[in-house]
Amino acid sequence: MIGVTVLGATGSIGISTLDVVARHPDKYRIVALTANRDVEGLYRQCRQHAPEYAVMADGDAACRLERRLKDAGLSIDVLTGVEGLEHVASMAGVDYVMAAIVGAAGLLPTLAAARAGKRVLLANKEALVVSGALFMQAVEQGGAEILPIDSEHNAVFQCMPADFRRGLERVGVSRILLTASGGPFRTLSLDQLRDVTPDQACAHPNWEMGRKISVDSATMMNKGLEVIEACWLFHTTPDRIKVVLHPQSVIHSMVAYADGSVLAQLGNPDMRTPIAHALAWPERIESGVAPLDLFEVARLDFEPPSLERFACLRLAYEAIEAGGTSPAILNAANEIAVAAFLRGKLGFTDIPWVIGSVLETLPGRHDADLETLLAVDGEARRRAEQLIRERV
Ligand code: NAD
Ligand code: MG
Repeated sequence: MIGVTVLGATGSIGISTLDVVARHPDKYRIVALTANRDVEGLYRQCRQHAPEYAVMADGDAACRLERRLKDAGLSIDVLTGVEGLEHVASMAGVDYVMAAIVGAAGLLPTLAAARAGKRVLLANKEALVVSGALFMQAVEQGGAEILPIDSEHNAVFQCMPADFRRGLERVGVSRILLTASGGPFRTLSLDQLRDVTPDQACAHPNWEMGRKISVDSATMMNKGLEVIEACWLFHTTPDRIKVVLHPQSVIHSMVAYADGSVLAQLGNPDMRTPIAHALAWPERIESGVAPLDLFEVARLDFEPPSLERFACLRLAYEAIEAGGTSPAILNAANEIAVAAFLRGKLGFTDIPWVIGSVLETLPGRHDADLETLLAVDGEARRRAEQLIRERV
């Protein structure tokens, strides 16, 4: 039996992961489930999956969960805080760690899993964006295995030759083509974008996701973060990654080869496919996803993205080109700006303005250790918050 920890179990990816795992009780055993504050959500999952550990990042929530489990007669150890998350990400008896916390909050537990040599099912792209070089070093030193969950990166992984870590040029790969749906506002003008609301931004045409990544999809920062993620996962540079708007979200990404071949991975837009792929790799298991009906899809469209309308995508390309701490600054400022937009405190088109302003005022640094990265992340958050306060 393979022991699995799910970090961020109550979120969209966490729920899909538990759905796939529950279809294969002979293969996988849930060792630990974690959440931030959702006591009821985690309690229900504990009842169904009977893990050994449940972790709530929030201390008060942990006390409430502990009481709730005790009253129900369930003996599950409740831990709390980052230490609790790190513990269940790295402990013996856990083979696979689903990293599905949203934002840089997932960095330390995901790093702990990498250092401990686990198979890391990586959904939490922000962790890699913030700490790319350090993270990949931890993977190597810990002997960990990374299986991408982000649908695009999972598709690229499926289309890559097995020895891609030797370097893309050596294995004949000329380009990675990352597809993007363009989100709910693909056809709106800059003027129309100014007045969009959080609920409109979260109504994605093809995917059901958490609110933060839904806003990122609408601004296309999600694709920007994914370009950075792809650079680290596939040992390449941003000039080899091309973003292709593909509104149907049926091709999840492609790999172009030196001989002119382009390999694509297709499927219905349902995260249970990449989750099942990463759980079972190199084998295949059933995921619960409906088979793709090509006649129903009928057509596949492609367009180039506009860097003027999607300024966040441009900022992300600039940040990875600048390197060092720039992606961490970009990510932190984005997290704060998106949270302010979701609270109704910032306009949609002000999101890239906040991020660009923070990047301009905070000098990027190279060769940052973990402590420096965390300090830079904190400083970028404070600056973003200040800009937003002054803007109101
Ligand atoms: P979500 O908001 O639905 O869930 C987030 C989970 O993280 C919840 O369980 C929450 O309790 C936990 N969490 C939040 N803040 C925390 C904190 N400070 N400490 C500890 N735990 C915390 O998010 P989601 O849509 O499931 O996305 C999770 C990650 O996966 C993100 O990094 C996202 O970019 C990535 N991802 C999601 C999708 C998708 O389809 N949802 C696709 C690709 C990648
Ligand atoms: Mg994605």
